[in-house]
Amino acid sequence: MSLDPTSRGPDTGDGHAVVIGSGFAGLTAARALVDHMDRVTVIERDRLPRGPRWRPGVSQSRHTHTLTDTGLRALEQLFPGVTGELVAAGMSLVRVPRDVLLYGPGGWLPRFDSGLSVLTGSRDVLDTVVRNRLHADRKVRFLQQHEVVGLEGGRNDTVTGVVLRRAGDDTGPTGVRRLLRAEFVVDASGYASATPQWLRELGYEPPRESVVDAGASYATAVYAPPVGHVDDWKGLLLTATPDNPRHGALTPLAGGKWMVSYAENGAAHAPSGHADFLLALGRLRHPLLREVVESATPLGPVYRSNRTENRWRRYEWTRRLPDQFAVMGDALAVFHPVHGQGLTVAAQCAVLLDAMLRSHGSTVGVAYRLRHALARQVAGAWRAATATDLAFPCAVADVDPPGPAARLARRYLDRVALAASVDRAAATATLEVAHLRAGPAVFLRPRVVAAAVRGGRPAAFDAPSTTHGRGVRRRRPPLTTAPSVGASTAAPPRSRVPGSSPTHLSGR
Ligand SMILES: Cc1cc2nc3c(=O)[nH]c(=O)nc-3n(C[C@H](O)[C@H](O)[C@H](O)COP(=O)(O)OP(=O)(O)OC[C@H]3O[C@@H](n4cnc5c(N)ncnc54)[C@H](O)[C@@H]3O)c2cc1C
Repeated sequence: MSLDPTSRGPDTGDGHAVVIGSGFAGLTAARALVDHMDRVTVIERDRLPRGPRWRPGVSQSRHTHTLTDTGLRALEQLFPGVTGELVAAGMSLVRVPRDVLLYGPGGWLPRFDSGLSVLTGSRDVLDTVVRNRLHADRKVRFLQQHEVVGLEGGRNDTVTGVVLRRAGDDTGPTGVRRLLRAEFVVDASGYASATPQWLRELGYEPPRESVVDAGASYATAVYAPPVGHVDDWKGLLLTATPDNPRHGALTPLAGGKWMVSYAENGAAHAPSGHADFLLALGRLRHPLLREVVESATPLGPVYRSNRTENRWRRYEWTRRLPDQFAVMGDALAVFHPVHGQGLTVAAQCAVLLDAMLRSHGSTVGVAYRLRHALARQVAGAWRAATATDLAFPCAVADVDPPGPAARLARRYLDRVALAASVDRAAATATLEVAHLRAGPAVFLRPRVVAAAVRGGRPAAFDAPSTTHGRGVRRRRPPLTTAPSVGASTAAPPRSRVPGSSPTHLSGR
């Protein structure tokens, strides 16, 4: 284990590090820095809640968040034993596809032990458990309700600190700002990172960006399953295809609740309100998710998100950038949420940061090396996400259009995806790539090639193996009014959604 919390003595590191943002990327980066620096200050604009509560800086936490097997391994490397804590706090480990009804392009996947699982549950719980581990470290300090507004440039192309102010103090240049000096700065401020602008202010060129945007809308709601609901699965996933660009997922939450998400590529508006949400679920490639949800009880509003594009800020392409500075997490690259990759890439990048600092220290030149290493780390996830999204005619991209070789590869991968529903080797390869466990070379395994040559069958409307029974009773409507908060779309809870009926999944 490279990250050994017992191996470090007091003040044996390289000085002070600042991390901008205490989202998942900021927390994991801070953990990596702790072993190499004397002190780490995490600056966060929000007031941090004591427990797992929603906050504006991570507004997407109201939506489904899964952490892949690969991401969980990286997180364990950073915080040994954290998986047990996360499960004790209410998150679930779901074996894929053993515990999941997964409807791919060729139909339902066989439910076998692939050796892969995902961590599912509340994103707020995930961040809280990880944050508490850092709170317990005396080298780490959280500076809440403070906002970084600029980088401090030093001699010889270095960053020597950050300029910050109290959050909400937007009294302009005359407002009270102070300089916090640091020997190393990580920007993990998320999707809306201001680093491109801060670099411009210091006389550097901002990075170019690669963008692949499937133009998706995204919506999520939480439900209580019907009373007496019995099933032999924990999650449900219906994937989109170019013919029907709608994606649906059900994942377990603590207390037996369900979180249900719907995404539609090329759709300007996400469903708002439960009736609309149910109608949208009815347009998925298979009716199962709608049938399951219409017998469940909504526990809150339908939340929407329009942050769905893949966007990669190409710092590795920029010739001159300051040293002792790195950009990580969504501030570096964001992915279409249906791929569930952002958290995994953040954890992988933090492990990489640890390895780089271990090899090179935070000395001159490390930022250049790190920038290129981070780009190589992001590239695998980027390829997997964008190759899928570019298959949708609605996708808009500022990357080069696929050439003949890429189009041929796409046709081959389509055959593998179809075969995944009838062949375990094809299913395993597809899942390993989706979980960032393996690169595309796994598609060339002889058994996968053979499966692709044999091909799959067209997706059918057959029911998967499930013990979800007939005649389930509905849960009584909740007595309390459902919350309606934040900027997300809120709809009143309904005791019964229009057109709802008991589910008869096993009898289909
Ligand atoms: C709808 C949706 C669903 C998703 N589902 C999944 C999923 O299933 N699996 C998955 O892996 N990923 C998923 N993602 C992606 C995932 O949410 C992100 O990859 C992840 O949150 C990135 O973490 P981060 O720390 O980089 O950014 P964030 O989590 O956005 O955190 C950024 C932090 O920086 C703070 N901050 C911002 N600016 C400043 C400043 N100037 N000064 C101080 N603090 C600042 C913010 O308050 C915030 O706390 C989803 C995303 C969306 C939108």
